Amino acid sequence: MHFSSDPFGDLIADRVQVQRDRIRRAAERAGRDPASVRLVAVSKFHPAAAIRAAYAAGQRDFGENYVQELSAKAAELQDLPDLRWHLIGHLQSNKAKSVAGWVHTVHTISTTKTALELGKRAWERRAAEQGTLQVLIEVNGSGEFSKSGCAPGELEELVHVVESQPGLALVGLMTVPPASTDDEVARPFFAQLRALRDDLGGPARLPELSMGMSHDAEVAIEEGATWVRIGTAIFGERKKEG
Ligand SMILES: *Cc1c(COP(=O)(O)O)cnc(C)c1O
Repeated sequence: MHFSSDPFGDLIADRVQVQRDRIRRAAERAGRDPASVRLVAVSKFHPAAAIRAAYAAGQRDFGENYVQELSAKAAELQDLPDLRWHLIGHLQSNKAKSVAGWVHTVHTISTTKTALELGKRAWERRAAEQGTLQVLIEVNGSGEFSKSGCAPGELEELVHVVESQPGLALVGLMTVPPASTDDEVARPFFAQLRALRDDLGGPARLPELSMGMSHDAEVAIEEGATWVRIGTAIFGERKKEG
């Protein structure tokens, strides 16, 4: 029997481990190098204490959707300097300024306007010798009006715009398929993202594919995901959803 004074921390640590094992097994089954698939722990609506518990279990990459919530947590967790923040929610161009200096990766560039604004702000970061800002372009493959992301037909031009920004380092593409309880519904959207990537020069130009969440990570890994974004399976159900 294992007794602990921190059952909450142990629960989160166990779940982080379960997700690591799950990712490794899915990669092996797909004939991929398990090290080529990394985990972003999505902590939106969960407290900083939950992030600390996952951090204590060795997790370093965390994803948040909302700039304000992200900024507040980053301030609370400043004592964890090697923690890497990923912005995975829609970024409005007027919020670019507040994240460009310290976020590790922005997964959700979807318009020229945001790319240019973020590029300008990230250039200041580069000038301060903090390096370029890693970004991915979000693709809306389903055409759902409610979803952010650029249309597949706009992608090539947006790739050029982002690549023209010296403060930004374009590393790949991201997508969020339509919500469904059947994880096979997501497969064509994941396959489409990979196909778009391959048309644009393949992994040499766009090495990262950010796709797959708690319920469909296996399918995403089979289709080539390099970042899976998992929230619920680590931190539990969220109380509110925005
Ligand atoms: C909330 C969210 C996730 C995590 O979803 P879970 O189903 O909780 O794993 C992943 N990606 C994005 C873009 C999200 O908004």
